[in-house]
Amino acid sequence: MSGRPAAKAPLSPTSGLNARVRELVALGHDITVLTAGESPGSPPEHVRQAAARAALSPDGHGYGPTAGMPQLRDRVAQSTPGTAGELLSTENVVITGGAKSALFSIFLSMLSPGDGVLIPTPAWPTYGHAVRLAGGRTVVAPTTSATGFQPTTELLERHHDAGIRLLVLCSPANPTGAVLDRERLREIGGWCARHRVTVVLDQVYGRLSWAGVDQPARRVLREAGAEVVVVDGVSKTYAMTGWRVGWLVAPAPVAAAVTAVVSHTANHPNRVAQTAALAALEGDQESVEQLRRHLLGNRERLGRMLSAVPDVVDYHEPQGTFYAFPSLAPLLERRPALSDAATVADRLLNEAGIAVIPGGPFGAAQHIRVSFVEPAEQFERAIQRMIDHLTAMK
Ligand code: PLP
Repeated sequence: MSGRPAAKAPLSPTSGLNARVRELVALGHDITVLTAGESPGSPPEHVRQAAARAALSPDGHGYGPTAGMPQLRDRVAQSTPGTAGELLSTENVVITGGAKSALFSIFLSMLSPGDGVLIPTPAWPTYGHAVRLAGGRTVVAPTTSATGFQPTTELLERHHDAGIRLLVLCSPANPTGAVLDRERLREIGGWCARHRVTVVLDQVYGRLSWAGVDQPARRVLREAGAEVVVVDGVSKTYAMTGWRVGWLVAPAPVAAAVTAVVSHTANHPNRVAQTAALAALEGDQESVEQLRRHLLGNRERLGRMLSAVPDVVDYHEPQGTFYAFPSLAPLLERRPALSDAATVADRLLNEAGIAVIPGGPFGAAQHIRVSFVEPAEQFERAIQRMIDHLTAMK
């Protein structure tokens, strides 16, 4: 066929792997899925009720404002950490079809062809693909577990060039679970201000971190002089991944430029979902606390179990998200026939029925991403099975 579309980006690794898992399950295999990028529950009852009321109401079914419902934008602005004297309002906020759509709209709006975007890795693969789809150029700055996966200003300096416009930071980070500490953020904010680089700060896991590391990253970066565009949403925090409501918080001219682009592309997400998102932000936050406690319990289980097998994995405790990103370097060194983590992940899936995501697409070929959202007992059994299989692997 002459009109075959060019493949502009590969399918995301999670979507590809999940398709393979579905195939195996259809063939009757018992697979434990440790790939999930979402919490297993449903949104709190008051959120579903608000959506039901909005769906049944005779009003509010037409087009709304392109940048999203003013009440939701206002609520997002109020809950975004500002600096002293800074007044964030509706004009700083654009509601989008999930955080993913916010990121793509930012890149489309802010980048001219060939503009550079610095991406410290390991990183969520969508950043790079979205930048390139928007005509930008990615510049990867690899971090390692030795610095807790935290980018240093020396690292950024080494990869900087005159065409760099944006720096993508994700904290807590998918896939490493690393949370940028205050001192590091202050240094990075100063560096960005000096180089006129805008920070795109992905905070979709911002509420899913634990004591001592919960800090307003935006405020620290802003106080150091950086321009910041925050990306966030209700997906991960409220078990609302399928509702597709996210947002960005940006200087008003940036938000206006994004709104103009959105007016020609997706427009606002559906108004029932926006009403539900508002209910999630305004209502009782106990579900978030429950999720945090559940994740903390599983993180402790995982830490205890993986730290006991240092000849197989090198484990770094995540400080947030629901992912751990252990390195299989100790195993790979002892078993050269296992060329990388992708080979190991394939064998775990086919031989032990455990699905994990290999780290290659995140920029770390020796690591695997293990999601720890599963119910505690099931999770512990799966990790034990994974460890037993890895230990026996030839
Ligand atoms: N940012 C990161 C780091 C993610 O891991 C994800 C989803 O996996 C998203 C953004 C996208 O979130 P949403 O479902 O709101 O589009």
